[in-house]
Amino acid sequence: MAFCQSCGSPLQPGEKFCQNCGAKVEAAPAAPIAAAPAASAVPPRPAPPDPYAGRPAAPQEAPAPPQTPAPPASAEEEDIKKNKGMAVLAYLGFLVLIPLFACKASPFARFHTGQGLLLMFAALIIGVAQRILATLLFGSHLWPILNFVFSILMIL
Ligand SMILES: [Zn+2]
Repeated sequence: MAFCQSCGSPLQPGEKFCQNCGAKVEAAPAAPIAAAPAASAVPPRPAPPDPYAGRPAAPQEAPAPPQTPAPPASAEEEDIKKNKGMAVLAYLGFLVLIPLFACKASPFARFHTGQGLLLMFAALIIGVAQRILATLLFGSHLWPILNFVFSILMIL
């Protein structure tokens, strides 16, 4: 039994045209229909494995590991540890003279000695200025009271 090549409906032997769709019947309908599509259906060959698959696109130089050089225990830190007490002394009024002469070699102690001296100097200036002001305003009889107040201020 032959079939129409256009619509697939069965053809009567000797028919020139398909009764279903009207397509012209070819002269060689005897070829087995089932064999043709099977032969043409070639399974697609798997693509050859990509030799570059799985590899990084380009062997570019890896980024250098972040170099964070650990800061060595600097002489400065050592200095601070050793002279902390001296730095405190620098702010205790006239005790600033101790680090001033004892730690001349230490930049850390020298810094705070300078700060302490500056504070002391400022306090001295303010004290003198206030004494002068008080003398001008109230006379010298208020000095003992003012001395008491200033001594408290100096401790603070
Ligand atoms: Zn047909």
